[in-house]
Amino acid sequence: MNDLIGESRALHYEEPLLWEHEQSDGSGVDLPAPQNTPLRTGQGAREALGLPQLKEPQVLRHFVRLSTKNFSIDHGFFPLGSCTMKHNPRLNEKMARLSGFAGIHPLQPACTVPGALEVMYQLQNWLGELTGLRGVCLTPAAGAHGELAGLMTIRRAHEQNGQGHRKVILCPDSAHGTNPATAAMCGYDLRVIPTKENGCVSLDAFREALGDGHDVAGMMVTNPNTCGLFERDIAACAELLHAAGGYFYCDGANFNALVGRVRPADFGVDVMHINLHKTFSTPHGGGGPGSGPICVAESLRPYLPVPCVVKTEAGYKLETREDRPDSFGRLKGFQGQFGMFVRALTYMLSHGADGLRQVSGDAVLNANYILAKLREDYDAPFGDRTCMHEALLTDKIQKESGVTTLDIAKTLIEYGMHPMTIYFPLVVNGAMLIEPTETEGKETLDRFIAVMQKIAADVRAGEGEIFHAMPQSAPRRRLDEVKAARNPVLRCSC
Ligand SMILES: *Cc1c(COP(=O)(O)O)cnc(C)c1O
Repeated sequence: MNDLIGESRALHYEEPLLWEHEQSDGSGVDLPAPQNTPLRTGQGAREALGLPQLKEPQVLRHFVRLSTKNFSIDHGFFPLGSCTMKHNPRLNEKMARLSGFAGIHPLQPACTVPGALEVMYQLQNWLGELTGLRGVCLTPAAGAHGELAGLMTIRRAHEQNGQGHRKVILCPDSAHGTNPATAAMCGYDLRVIPTKENGCVSLDAFREALGDGHDVAGMMVTNPNTCGLFERDIAACAELLHAAGGYFYCDGANFNALVGRVRPADFGVDVMHINLHKTFSTPHGGGGPGSGPICVAESLRPYLPVPCVVKTEAGYKLETREDRPDSFGRLKGFQGQFGMFVRALTYMLSHGADGLRQVSGDAVLNANYILAKLREDYDAPFGDRTCMHEALLTDKIQKESGVTTLDIAKTLIEYGMHPMTIYFPLVVNGAMLIEPTETEGKETLDRFIAVMQKIAADVRAGEGEIFHAMPQSAPRRRLDEVKAARNPVLRCSC
């Protein structure tokens, strides 16, 4: 039988490069040889390009097979902590494909697209309402881009107010890597706030990092934080920070845990980015561009990047630099990822205020269900508290038998699930950060829990050895990931 197996076995593809498919007699198109075409570049004639000689169906199948190689939220359970891999409702897609949205061009005169501007204006309003931060700019193209936009807004505000000497950003050691990277990119010095054993920023540690605050531009904190916990002292920290003249930047990537229940402005936030591709269900990963609007307090609104959409007597309008001279300027071409604005607003309108409130409630419930069911089998460093939308476990118990977080993650692949986020947050050894999101049903959660319980039981029974060789059935097994990252081979040698 082996001789008969070509490029697929039981719908399990091995996909060679097109050049390896090549047959000398194949051709997708026949073009007549060019006649009497003198070279006008003054250079010699080009040699053959060396394109693979294949028939059209071969090329088509190659790309269709490749397109199925990526695991996605549409394939199966994807509990990647901090990434909020929730279902992308098809209604969003339907709305984004309406020709009045899909067919417009960013260079069209604004007077020909009032409906599109109204969508942006409404989305700004929803985000302003949900966060309590009324100045909204939709243009940033990702969460990290929103962070940059937010810190540049803060920097501009300080500069315009004679506070340009403030050069320090405070950031807890549990932060997402993009926070310190953004601060550095913005030219700030970083001062790290150590988190306590309970995974949160304490008022004492914050006070110490703040000092007299004369050089502090602001702090960047994720709430709920990357340990999946609500920062209990955050309002008090914000008060101290404000008294010292700093701004509170909240990394809003975890807004899925709060939406509809808490307005971040109420715990002292001045600036926050929103990941539309997390909380508001627009596709991400390979599926679509990110979108990271920022929301700011009224006092910072003048410094936001341009353009925001404003409503004038003559209708909706994209601002220019002249309209808002204190703006730090333009951050991105045109006006952001418009297709994502349509999807996010569709999501908001189809859920309504009460539905969005249920989103965060269900997200938190699902995570706590997993935490409660796995707390006995795995070490749960903060398991005495209810978590927010992410459950944090570690490999502390399994490691005594030589089975690590990496082994457990690789075993989930064998069971057809995407692994959780591993070894993050860095402040927790052997971390497994599990974010089920609200869109998974109980059957899926129960199957995940059963798999995790079986792994733990096998380790207890002294059968942990098998996990070092997982996954077994995937087209590739354990890869040398460090080598792949450090020494990528980006050219084929055909
Ligand atoms: C996802 C995430 C980001 C970055 O968002 P991108 O859109 O990937 O740039 C920043 N902070 C936290 C906590 C996140 O989870």
